[in-house]
Amino acid sequence: MASAIATVETPVAIKATRLLINNRWVNSESGRTFATTNPATGEEIAQVAEADSADVDKAVRAARAAFDARSPWRKMPAADRGRMLGRLADLIEQHADELALLESLDNGKPYQVAKAADLPLTIACYRYYAGWADKVQGKTIPIAGDYFCYTRHEPVGVVGQIIPWNFPLLMQAWKLGPALATGNTVVMKPAEQTPLSALRVGELIVEAGFPEGVVNLLPGFGPTAGAAIANHMDVDKVAFTGSTEVGHLIMEASAHSNLKRVTLELGGKSPNIVFADADMDQAIEGSHFALFFNQGQCCCAGSRLFVEDKCYDEFVEKSVARAKARKVGDPFDPSTEQGPQVDQAQFDKVLGYIDSGKREGATLLCGGGRWGDRGYFVEPTVFADVQDNMKIAEEEIFGPVMSIIRFKDMAEVVERANRTIYGLAAAVWTRDIGKAHAIANSVRAGTVWVNCYDVFDAAAPFGGFKQSGIGRELGEYGLQQYTEVKTVTVKL
Ligand code: ADP
Repeated sequence: MASAIATVETPVAIKATRLLINNRWVNSESGRTFATTNPATGEEIAQVAEADSADVDKAVRAARAAFDARSPWRKMPAADRGRMLGRLADLIEQHADELALLESLDNGKPYQVAKAADLPLTIACYRYYAGWADKVQGKTIPIAGDYFCYTRHEPVGVVGQIIPWNFPLLMQAWKLGPALATGNTVVMKPAEQTPLSALRVGELIVEAGFPEGVVNLLPGFGPTAGAAIANHMDVDKVAFTGSTEVGHLIMEASAHSNLKRVTLELGGKSPNIVFADADMDQAIEGSHFALFFNQGQCCCAGSRLFVEDKCYDEFVEKSVARAKARKVGDPFDPSTEQGPQVDQAQFDKVLGYIDSGKREGATLLCGGGRWGDRGYFVEPTVFADVQDNMKIAEEEIFGPVMSIIRFKDMAEVVERANRTIYGLAAAVWTRDIGKAHAIANSVRAGTVWVNCYDVFDAAAPFGGFKQSGIGRELGEYGLQQYTEVKTVTVKL
């Protein structure tokens, strides 16, 4: 069992801070550690073991041994794998308060939000995939001649999983759920900004009874531990969620090493389209949520907000009033809607985009600066009169910065909505069912929400068109990325 003395007064005990390899908590080979900080104060919470390539080698060996055909994991009936995932879901549920506290402390998201959104979605994801474990099956295929032909859906093997910091527990669940349901073994690297909740779940994974080597957790940095996973010759697949820039590096690493399978969930600049015939109050509140949820740190944030000319002024005025009313503050205060950005780098990046918006001539209507005098808080910010070619309309800001863009008609808005390298999500607000479906059909994005936003369910697939990613997560589609199809042909 790992333990650490938290370096500041924290509302929750910090239990797991080392690497999990072969169901044992170990220091890194180098003995190095790094600080994880509380973004609300900028203070260190704890030191965490820092994995590098030597630790990746060790973890991959453990995962490979656990994948051996004679291992307990491979011999385990699929239904038992499902029961184990179900047990993990139960344990996470039993520790939901503690995990929500850790998530809030390490990431900065309001505790109430972690408790109401991140935890239930995480638990539901493990339960959903627990149910699939014994329902993944091939087909019998009537081929020509005197043969019996069938397919088997076999696990891919040792899977590297690299996850981001914006939804640490949930991204861990999206990755582990389908990988374990289908019988793979895993080497996972949590984001360096937010390792604590993933490691605590590691303790629960051991408690749930997963055999040694099935799940290995390696906190550490991207260019070292992350790159070592992506380049490893004995990793069969890498699943990555993060920036499009690093997504390119992961593909390159695969191409230059062993052509490991790659699935990517990357950035976005999602069009959120409001027609004048929408329920205006619903559209304003929904668009506020679409952008500001999770401090704006969502890959699918509705960050290109297209509003029809006829309702533009009313929409802008009410959206500004709503943003001004947004409660920023201590993530542990129950009334807080918005906490800090995750770290100094993200804080600086968001303020840089706000400056560029001002320089390029967008109209700043509220916010625009730091909130408070410590931590990484940014004021809820709204720009109007944003043009398509401004940086704030083209690039992912990943912060609480709303860009409101004017449009005239359907054909025009579809063309402009699609003029982007991204294709993760989109939304449309209208009472006209024809318009809603026309937008849903013509916007090139992996998810389209109609009169709602950020509705997630473990059963509904999620992923990107274009440079927003490759492959889908969640749902039955998410399972396909974790199996190899084997064709068996038998002469009769
Ligand atoms: P962000 O900019 O939002 O932090 P990143 O794409 O940099 O997004 O990070 C997402 C995840 O990818 C993190 O776990 C990070 O450590 C990891 N990562 C960053 N750079 C690399 C890299 N070169 N190779 C592999 N993983 C990386």
